[in-house]
Amino acid sequence: MPSPSAAHCRPDGDVVIVGAGVGGLTLALALHARGIGCRVYEQAAEIAPLGVGINILPHATAELERLGVLPALEALSATTKEAGFFNRFGQHVYSEPLGRYAGHATPQLSIHRGDLQGVLLAEVRARLGAGRVIAGHACIDAEDTSTGVRLRFRDPAGAALPEVRGSVAIGCDGIHSALRKQLHPHEGPPRYSGVNMWRGVTPHAPFLSGATMVRAGWLSVGKMVIYPIRDHIDGAGNQLVNWVAELESPEPVRRDWATQGRLDDFFPAFADWHFDWLDVAALIADTKQVLAYPMVDQEPLPRWSFGRITLLGDAAHPMVPRGSNGAGQAILDARCLADRITELGPCEAALTAYDAERNPATAKVVLMNRSAPPDAILRVVHERSGDRPFVRIDDVVSHAEMAAITSAYKQVAGVTTATPSASTSSTSPA
Ligand SMILES: Cc1cc2nc3c(=O)[nH]c(=O)nc-3n(C[C@H](O)[C@H](O)[C@H](O)COP(=O)(O)OP(=O)(O)OC[C@H]3O[C@@H](n4cnc5c(N)ncnc54)[C@H](O)[C@@H]3O)c2cc1C
Repeated sequence: MPSPSAAHCRPDGDVVIVGAGVGGLTLALALHARGIGCRVYEQAAEIAPLGVGINILPHATAELERLGVLPALEALSATTKEAGFFNRFGQHVYSEPLGRYAGHATPQLSIHRGDLQGVLLAEVRARLGAGRVIAGHACIDAEDTSTGVRLRFRDPAGAALPEVRGSVAIGCDGIHSALRKQLHPHEGPPRYSGVNMWRGVTPHAPFLSGATMVRAGWLSVGKMVIYPIRDHIDGAGNQLVNWVAELESPEPVRRDWATQGRLDDFFPAFADWHFDWLDVAALIADTKQVLAYPMVDQEPLPRWSFGRITLLGDAAHPMVPRGSNGAGQAILDARCLADRITELGPCEAALTAYDAERNPATAKVVLMNRSAPPDAILRVVHERSGDRPFVRIDDVVSHAEMAAITSAYKQVAGVTTATPSASTSSTSPA
């Protein structure tokens, strides 16, 4: 259903999406729902369920609901009820409801990244046709031919593959994006924040509300993020619990999603975390596989779009994962880009309009994740309490001050109950 102006664009074939991650697959679903042809090219020979837990906030689950994939995702995830903040002695600092429990029309979901990608992939294959997702294609570069785009790919062995043509090219190829490097060749590698992360998933009995997203401690002495991502994983009522240990470290660990973590590098900071509401040390010790990844981001770019080529998701705005917003902002990008292509056709004007809308919005989130994400509450507690147990939290920080921190973050990220979707478009969705 492209608008009449789309005809002036003289599109030269399908939209070419580079990368079958959360952003690329959501974009494929959104374009298909609007009657626009696309193909997704993925570097991996086989799309495997990689990663650990991820959160999708209500502004993004609203888009997933419009795309008709929310029920399948809810079936595989935990519906998050509340955020709970604690110091490193396990003392409760602050809580607030999340998602539906905070009045949003759609939930906050805590989900394994592999389950999220798996549901989106299955839907793309079912709706667009299995042949529309082409694996084993690593994009090398894209060229704007003025009537369309031409892309070069290599197979997993490094051999050149036949050239691919389309109307526009969308780089959804993540934090190691080849297209971002092509468009911004002098940018340099991602910027290390000074913090490494060790992550794992462990079967465990429900704790606190049974769906609490816990943030505890502080980065200089050891911080944990812990939340369930699957319910009822066995006959014993256990959940699959995701945890991330974050610790300031002079050197970054290897920037590879498959890097194995070493307990010696971080466990000592958490060895005495035995709280009455959760034995964190035991949770870590019971984990079969620990992954390590540095907390990195990039400076916001002045532009993502060059002619018929643009970027989306982590390729466009990698951010430190301190506000549960990486996947969500990629989903919002996809909605916006699909709307602009619907209005203007698959051409430079649509990509420019998308850039103008989403680049400033996501730049604010990138910067806010550095300076004042929700866990800034824990920095305040750590500093004012001198990293010691407190007698009364009110003597350290007021409830109103903590509520103001999370509220300011939600405004920037676009997670407000009044405006559950960050997109300003009036285009009717799927
Ligand atoms: C393997 C992996 C594991 C991750 N694990 C976690 C996690 O545990 N927790 C978390 O919060 N975030 C994780 N992330 C990041 C998270 O998925 C993103 O921050 C977020 O979902 C935004 O999605 P995206 O689609 O922009 O990028 P991504 O999800 O990173 O997807 C990018 C896709 O592009 C593909 N790709 C890359 N380069 C090329 C190329 N040149 N040609 C073709 N395809 C290419 C990648 O293989 C990938 O499928 C992970 C990402 C990856 C790739």
